[in-house]
Amino acid sequence: MPNAVRINMLSRTTNNRCDKLDALPELTVNLAAVVDNWLHLKNQARGTVLCGAVLKADAYGLGAVPIAKVLFDAGCRNFFVAYPEEALELADQDFPETQIFILMGPDGRYLQKIREKGLIPVLSTIEHVELWAKANASSSLTRACALQVETGMHRLGLSVQSWEQILNDHVLWSHLNPAVVLSHLASADDANSPQNRRQKKVFIGIVRKAQALKKNLMFSLANSAGVFLGDSFHFDLLRPGIALFGVDPTQGGTHSLRQVVTLKARILQIETVQKGESIGYGASFCAREDCRIATVAIGYADGLPRSLEGSAYSIMLGRAARIVGRISMDMTTFDVSKVPARTLATMSHVEILGSINTVDKLARNSGITGYEVLTRIGQRVRRNYKRDIV
Ligand SMILES: *Cc1c(COP(=O)(O)O)cnc(C)c1O
Repeated sequence: MPNAVRINMLSRTTNNRCDKLDALPELTVNLAAVVDNWLHLKNQARGTVLCGAVLKADAYGLGAVPIAKVLFDAGCRNFFVAYPEEALELADQDFPETQIFILMGPDGRYLQKIREKGLIPVLSTIEHVELWAKANASSSLTRACALQVETGMHRLGLSVQSWEQILNDHVLWSHLNPAVVLSHLASADDANSPQNRRQKKVFIGIVRKAQALKKNLMFSLANSAGVFLGDSFHFDLLRPGIALFGVDPTQGGTHSLRQVVTLKARILQIETVQKGESIGYGASFCAREDCRIATVAIGYADGLPRSLEGSAYSIMLGRAARIVGRISMDMTTFDVSKVPARTLATMSHVEILGSINTVDKLARNSGITGYEVLTRIGQRVRRNYKRDIV
């Protein structure tokens, strides 16, 4: 039979959904769930405590601008990002009376812009302190900063000695014009870690001395996990990040957070693989019996960790399908032998992340953290923003 005729016959029998749909994976971010999580975090603290939102790395890969917008509407007035570029992106949204903090500090290249827009750099080194004090001293405008002080994490922050020098130098202090003093907890995910209490004790010492120098200075210690350590860790301003996105910030806690993300990918092909045949790169999987394999359009470039190979996944109606063979850049192969054939069709969706396959579950199964699951979601994945109806 000539080729053209054969193709004609095929097109009559297959559905034509492929014409209309592309195979790009789709991420849906439920903005209503982000707001509910923010309110839930805020409600852990006394009414006078402010709740900010950490939206660094493009809000953990989910999109800083749409998320900042809904949180602003819900009443959030303190955003934290890592870099000046990220802060400027939020500043372009013109959120009135909102403080945007730059956790990595002032950057010489952006100093003018930071000052123009009233962004608040978090000063964590002596170099940061000198840069900011000099800029304020040589300007008619005294802009506010935040100071990050070391309490035991030893990642980034002014040593207690540098901090005391700053406190005792009244000219320097007035040039710095700090609005917030913060520190970061190293082990807040483990409520039983004695490090939490040790860091809090050092921080309370810092608070006492600084309060005497300036009224209205705010203090901030708690990230998401710190929020759940209780009142005595809250001070004036909470800094949750990961919990906003429905990821459990503590080891095995249940904090009634809502799932925020759904990641769906499409089935490209369903094929029977005979006993003894292998699947994928390196032939890492060999079929012990005949099996049905669905090739799904999602790979490590879209954020699926390669270490997920071999793990069971609930795909259709809660049926388990194991990931077999290597996860490649754009595609992953699932053994769907146990999934009723009538429920599977090419170009239909498979849930990679969602209410059944939660971020926490995928993290556990692949040996990475929920933070990494979210921040790895690839750039080409299409992002949709919805309020509740997912
Ligand atoms: C990332 C970060 C946070 C937020 O931490 P989560 O664990 O995501 O809540 C808070 N403070 C600082 C300084 C950070 O770097």
